[in-house]
Amino acid sequence: MDGNDSGLTSLSATVRQFLSQPKKALINGKWQAAQAGQTFEVLNPATGEVIARVADCQKADVDQAVQAARKAFDGGPWRRMSPADRGKILWKIGDLIQANLEDLAQIESLDNGKPIAVARAADVVLAADLFRYMAGWATKIEGESISLSVPYTPDAEYHAYTRKEPIGVVAQIIPWNFPLLMAAWKLGPVLATGCTVVLKVAEETPLSGLRLAEICQEAGLPDGVLNLLTGFGESCGAPLAAHPLVDKVAFTGSTEVGKLIVRAAANDLKKVTLELGGKSPNIILNDADLDIAIPGAASAIFFNHGQTCCAGSRLFVQDKVYDKVVEGISKIAQEIKIGPGLDPTTQMGPLVSQVQLDRVSSFLRSGEEQGARATCGGKRNGDKGYFVQPTVLVDTHEQMRVYQEEIFGPVLVAMPFKDVDDELIRRANDSVYGLAAGVFSSNLSSAHRLAARLRAGTVWVNCYNIFDAALPFGGYKQSGWGREMGHEVLKNYLETKSVCMSV
Ligand code: NAP
Ligand code: MG
Repeated sequence: MDGNDSGLTSLSATVRQFLSQPKKALINGKWQAAQAGQTFEVLNPATGEVIARVADCQKADVDQAVQAARKAFDGGPWRRMSPADRGKILWKIGDLIQANLEDLAQIESLDNGKPIAVARAADVVLAADLFRYMAGWATKIEGESISLSVPYTPDAEYHAYTRKEPIGVVAQIIPWNFPLLMAAWKLGPVLATGCTVVLKVAEETPLSGLRLAEICQEAGLPDGVLNLLTGFGESCGAPLAAHPLVDKVAFTGSTEVGKLIVRAAANDLKKVTLELGGKSPNIILNDADLDIAIPGAASAIFFNHGQTCCAGSRLFVQDKVYDKVVEGISKIAQEIKIGPGLDPTTQMGPLVSQVQLDRVSSFLRSGEEQGARATCGGKRNGDKGYFVQPTVLVDTHEQMRVYQEEIFGPVLVAMPFKDVDDELIRRANDSVYGLAAGVFSSNLSSAHRLAARLRAGTVWVNCYNIFDAALPFGGYKQSGWGREMGHEVLKNYLETKSVCMSV
């Protein structure tokens, strides 16, 4: 790669062509400009330069997209399609994602800043797998027959059963940290259950979603089933979450905006599921295998530059191994190669935007002001693009902002502890969040006991950030409502109808 072009010369001809075409919204099977004609810029986070312009969709576009989804749900071919045929389309979407793996990885790396190797091995592969997993569920959505015991009609007999029906028109809003994968997590179950959808992708990273929507069309998804909007939270996301023809809102993003979504949906009591932030505790016990625990804890926080809702951002290390663990993670951090995502040797790319760079920098300053010490990193990296050095903070305490709040950057807050039962459990659970947790230990009993007592939707033991389409993911407390993935997610998009017949 040419060191000065941030990897742009390595883009394939098809990705260049994709980038050069005008970027429109997908509404009722047609690509169209925003009604007001406005567009906004998409920036390369490695350089701050413009890579594309996309439609700035607003209330009128939202309305048109929701109307299209409503029509496709209420009367289109989608409702009449057999579950097997829906499943085939889902499987084909998975195949097409796989077939376009390299292009999708390049688009994702360019737009979000993540290393191309990670985009290839994680984001794109997991997205393809999610659609294939959900393809299998399309034919396995079943009600039950139920025997009644009504006491007041001794002679009557009833045939009663439940039907599982799609909830209807779904509004989905996703963030920028895993743009393609978040779209897949959201769209897979919507299509498996037979709902229709308006998806708003994140303003910072709209490109892979646009390419995915093309793939969905190519796979044979009928017009109006998936409508995709690019736009901003307030002018596009908010009217979408509040639209009266939407039956359900599924949101992934910050806890702060999650609360706004609930308020917007409350007006007509839409169903809501939320996948929100975290400040996840990662715990290393004295008996842990440090050859596993040290790199495990480093990747728990540094994966995706810490821009992961479940990042292991509060590290609790038992006293006997604390110094060794901090030293080991700091050494790994110092050796991480920082660079543009498209450079194949890059291990950590830029943060996604100037806003996130400012936010993470302000946390680093606040940590310093409140007495924390960085054993490595602690600063912006370079003066071009949005790079931050991977950082380990020690001498931290519970009152610090860096301890309490989600930083969403490569910043680890490390603390020693002595006692598991009285001290650690209380401190680990002392957070408004409850998304994930990690435990590193060689003692099975200790690990299982801790897994049971941690108030978190996922507990990883001797590993971290392992995701699978079959494994439910979601938060306790203010980390969310409901679960993504696994068969649990189907509930988010189904209504149960009881049918009771006198026979
Ligand atoms: P965000 O501000 O909450 O944005 C998420 C999405 O919501 C974006 O599409 C955003 O639009 C949209 N949005 C913003 N304001 C809105 C409003 N009033 N009504 C409707 N939609 C609105 O989050 P972010 O700053 O982009 O991402 C970082 C945060 O997301 C982190 O704090 C992290 O905790 C959270 N996150 C959680 C998960 C998870 O799975 N739990 C995953 C990723 C991120 P724009 O495009 O204009 O921003
Ligand atoms: Mg945002």
